[in-house]
Amino acid sequence: MPAVVVTNRARVASGHVWVHDGEIVSVDADAAPGDVVAVTDRRGHVHGAGLYNPASRIPVRLVAGAGTAAAAVVVDEALIVERVNRAAAHRRELPGVDEALCRTVWSEADDLPGLVVDRYGDVAVIQLNTLGFDLRRDLVVAAVRSALDVGSVYERSEGPARAAEGLEPSVGFRWGRPAEHRVLHTGAAAVHVDLTAGQKTGLYLDQLANHQVVGAAAAGRRVLDVFCHHGAFGIAASIGGAVSVTAVDSSATALESARRDAELNDVAVDFVEANAFDHLRHLDRSGGAGRFDLVVIDPPPFARSRRHLEAARRGYKELNLRALRLLEPGGRLVTFSCSHHVGRAELTGIVVEAAQDARRRVRLAETLAQRGDHPVLPAVPETEYLCGLVLEVIDPW
Ligand code: SAH
Repeated sequence: MPAVVVTNRARVASGHVWVHDGEIVSVDADAAPGDVVAVTDRRGHVHGAGLYNPASRIPVRLVAGAGTAAAAVVVDEALIVERVNRAAAHRRELPGVDEALCRTVWSEADDLPGLVVDRYGDVAVIQLNTLGFDLRRDLVVAAVRSALDVGSVYERSEGPARAAEGLEPSVGFRWGRPAEHRVLHTGAAAVHVDLTAGQKTGLYLDQLANHQVVGAAAAGRRVLDVFCHHGAFGIAASIGGAVSVTAVDSSATALESARRDAELNDVAVDFVEANAFDHLRHLDRSGGAGRFDLVVIDPPPFARSRRHLEAARRGYKELNLRALRLLEPGGRLVTFSCSHHVGRAELTGIVVEAAQDARRRVRLAETLAQRGDHPVLPAVPETEYLCGLVLEVIDPW
């Protein structure tokens, strides 16, 4: 097996699974793109074996650790089946997670770096976000067919992760052909899933449990769902007994699906197609405080890298400031960041500043996170990316 030598202080020495290009000392001449390579440091200490892509800023992602016979690792169908089975078994043990509507395999967190498998009923939606798995597409499809009880496999490999590996989008049915629209259930809500359109692989599976948290807190409240996508927070709130729900998104296609889901659940939601920043400013200026009792802010990732951190902070602050100004004591703000770089501590700091500027006092009622089918490896901090805060506005003093 070809070897990649890394610096003695490379992150793999602390349990991480990525080798960054700046950590590489040398690469054997016979290492080809997509190969499994042995990763050692200058002292000859073996860290494991990983998939190699010289075109990536992360040229090696480990598929086996130091405790294994790294030199013998083969990424074949049997290995993928075994890991998909293990990942699926983990989902089955998670309380409140329906294994037919969940992320069954999540990349590094399931020891399959770059491979994502989402279950939507009897369809498995796969994403091959690394060259290593892109070159093993047929093995992945065969493994998913044999490990999961599904009727078809749909590939939806696109987006920034793939571009960073130097790969073009690859989308289409890889096995079977299901009806394209299906209705699935999550909590008390029904959702249409259209696998060939929409963002991500259909739904924001990472937020499914949090929709129910909002649904449970919504009774008797006037709810504003900002960045609503298919309206999942607003619909859950309405089912939960909200007296009114307004939901905002800038995407007309997302709102089309949202309206269809509201109709499917027989709930009334006032959908607004607008830029969230503009609309919050408008609400703030025309009526302001006391207009809503519960506001959800669930923006897209503003900080995809550290470089964007300052601009992202400003964005999160503005949104939370405006949202807080719409609330009075007793009101609730449910606010999220899905940028790894803006984690819980950072988001809390932003909310504290926003509350100060908005002249509101807040108490933390609950902290939220990505659902357990997106597991976190503490040694790989990038696996933790979604955090949320439920804040109660309390009396001024
Ligand atoms: N809350 C949703 C997920 C939101 S994803 C859920 O739980 O399912 C983020 C959404 O923000 C996307 O639907 C996207 O269309 C929308 N969006 C992105 N930028 C926006 C902007 N500036 N104003 C309003 N919506 C925006």
